[in-house]
Amino acid sequence: MKHIFTKIFLGFLSVILIFTLTILYFSYQIIKESYQNNLKQNLININHTLEPELMPYLIDNNTHELDSLVKFLGNNLKARITLINLAGVVLADSKANPMNMENHADRPEIISALTNQEASSVRHSFTVNKDMLYVAIPIKSDGKLLGVSRISIYMDEFDSLINKLIFKILELLIYVAILILLFAALFSIRITKPINNLVLTAKLLASGDFKARATANTKDELKLLADVFNNMTEKLELYFNQTVQQKEELSNIIYSIQEGLVVTSTQGRIIQFNPGFTKATNGATPLVGKFIWEYLRENQIAKIIKKMESSTSAITTEIQIKDDYFLCSVNHINTNKELVFIFSNISELKKFENIKKEIVVNVSHELRTPLTVIKGYLETLEDDVDEKNRNYIKIIKNHTDRLINIVQDLLTISQLEEKNLKINYESIDLSKFFININETFINKLREKDLALKIELDNNINSIVADSFKLEQVFINLIDNAIKYSETGEITINVRNNDESIRFEITDTGIGIPEKDLERIFERFYTVDKSRSRQMAGTGLGLAIVKHIVLLHRGKITVESTTGKGSRFIIVLPSGNLN
Ligand code: ADP
Repeated sequence: MKHIFTKIFLGFLSVILIFTLTILYFSYQIIKESYQNNLKQNLININHTLEPELMPYLIDNNTHELDSLVKFLGNNLKARITLINLAGVVLADSKANPMNMENHADRPEIISALTNQEASSVRHSFTVNKDMLYVAIPIKSDGKLLGVSRISIYMDEFDSLINKLIFKILELLIYVAILILLFAALFSIRITKPINNLVLTAKLLASGDFKARATANTKDELKLLADVFNNMTEKLELYFNQTVQQKEELSNIIYSIQEGLVVTSTQGRIIQFNPGFTKATNGATPLVGKFIWEYLRENQIAKIIKKMESSTSAITTEIQIKDDYFLCSVNHINTNKELVFIFSNISELKKFENIKKEIVVNVSHELRTPLTVIKGYLETLEDDVDEKNRNYIKIIKNHTDRLINIVQDLLTISQLEEKNLKINYESIDLSKFFININETFINKLREKDLALKIELDNNINSIVADSFKLEQVFINLIDNAIKYSETGEITINVRNNDESIRFEITDTGIGIPEKDLERIFERFYTVDKSRSRQMAGTGLGLAIVKHIVLLHRGKITVESTTGKGSRFIIVLPSGNLN
């Protein structure tokens, strides 16, 4: 990772390098060009100054004197002077013997000068073996061209001059660059110092030091950033303290509640638990990280965890751990990553419930015989009394019937609730089953002039269920349908659905008001108390029906319209059924 300081510094350095090289390149070009132009112009001027001195010798064609004069002048001027005639022959030269020099008619500056133009050229001179700048002018007398005067200087002198100048510029640029770099370093330090401070503070914050604060001795955005950062830290500290406090409070609550509470992973590994849970484990000390079933050796716990994998809602079930009974409720927390178990000890409640059940069963048993005896005597008495007393006997008989029914229903419910209740699954021939049911009700149906219709789907012949209990279901439902219908018919429709069998028991009776529909399966719930009593109803019939349906892992619902009739719908899974 490159530091900001290095980045800024390198950035400045590259800008300076590019800047310096560009300036050097262009200044070299400009200086060279302007210096060369200047030099050329000077040499042209000198040439013109020499012209009157050289002219007489040229006119006289006195080459000897001319060459001496040229050598003298060239020496004084520190430049090379050459005189050439119209044929390109060198007449005089300040540096060489003109006799040894070749014809100059082909030199570019001479060609131009012979056409009356001042001209210059930079070339290598083989005579002196150096790069030279040549400037040539035509020499004329009365408009007549006599020859060419050429002055030349060595380019190396010119180059060293330019180089000296460039070197001076470079020197200056280096000073400026050093100054700029110094400034860049200071600037980088000024920027990176508060940033580094911010980084350090953030690290302290990450390690849990909420007292750390960022500083920035500037008045720019960095200062603003530091202020915002400090503000954020303060808020973070506040929220953190609040969270810690809330966590502590929550821990205290969890610790002090009597119910056993365990939080586990979805696989059942313990994450957190309270002392209430230790009680449920019978004193074994649970450990975080272990599986919950290592402490509660109950098959049900593993089953619940398995079930929770596919369930999104809470599961509440009763479990027995050694001699204690617990109501175990499990739910997802932390968006389905954890499970929370709550174990409420219901052993005492269970004990009372059992006592209550026992009392109900015992009382029912004890009442059954005397009630049957009373009913028998009442029937005997009925024939021997006068009309007025017969009416009283009828009322007493009706109430006795009700009592016998209640006792019978209570015994049935107690049997159904027995822990070790066995469901005797067997294949039931449905046609025969409903013929029997029909026979049971033949008199009652006739009394009220009602019809019973059985509609059995062709593809269902038999069903696997507890025949005695299923019979109880239909007896109760049809009995109700007869009780609460005055005219019309009762229909039993049996259909095969995909994975279930659907029974519909429909009547054309008085119907059930909508507000009661939800509660009619409750024990002792009756819609119209006096009517139910008249019919010797107990309010337990539908409770028994629902219990049996649930034992078969089925579902029961009801639809009804007052004055029109009711329909009870039972759906039994065909898992048990053929
Ligand atoms: P009960 O012995 O009083 O009939 P149930 O538990 O069998 O008790 O029924 C509960 C109540 O539901 C009844 O009191 C009655 O008001 C109502 N009920 C049940 N079946 C029917 C029906 N087929 N038509 C109208 N009302 C019904």
